Amino acid sequence: MASYLQESHDRIFENNRAWAAKQKEKDPEFFTKLSAGQEPDYLWIGCSDSRIPAEQITGLSAGEVFIHRNIANLVCNTDLNVMSVVDYAVRHLKVKHIIVCGHYGCGGVKAALTPQDMGLLNPWLRNIRDVYRLHEDELDAIPDESKRYDRLVELNVIEQCRNIIKTAAVQQSYATNKFPIMHGWVFGFQDGLLKDLKVDHEKMLQGIQKIYNLTRGS
Ligand SMILES: [Zn+2]
Repeated sequence: MASYLQESHDRIFENNRAWAAKQKEKDPEFFTKLSAGQEPDYLWIGCSDSRIPAEQITGLSAGEVFIHRNIANLVCNTDLNVMSVVDYAVRHLKVKHIIVCGHYGCGGVKAALTPQDMGLLNPWLRNIRDVYRLHEDELDAIPDESKRYDRLVELNVIEQCRNIIKTAAVQQSYATNKFPIMHGWVFGFQDGLLKDLKVDHEKMLQGIQKIYNLTRGS
């Protein structure tokens, strides 16, 4: 076991050296440019699930996407971590697009569909249970359990997009610059493809602003 763990680390460092050499070969200025700073167009909020490497599935490379991942790609307004990521990405990096990417077969969403005590995960999963409650009629009308589960994955992504649009940073930037634009996507393990849920940013914004309009400063 001890030698196995050592081997595993060696493999990562070898991969790293090969990657660095390859980047330099493709573009001798690559690391000089990286050191100069970042100007990514995208903010990606995805699930921590190890099977969804954001850059690999999108073909985006170093410097192109600012990334935050957590269990079930949630955007909770009391989570200082995700709120700081959104604020920094919008106000300072001035990202043009924000993607919330969920995935079918999400363990976090599955756990939230299970009515039982999950210990420390309870408050986190509550956010997904709340999404279920908000869309209870639609979800309960789906007789097939796996289809209901898939739909909750999609609805969860849409609700997290809505949570991002509720932030002052996004509303104020959009009012001035017409960006960032929200996108809700879902990744499928079966074919490796991303599905665009076609979130309508403008419509979603109008839908929430009666209650959540934070465009004006104090
Ligand atoms: Zn997941």
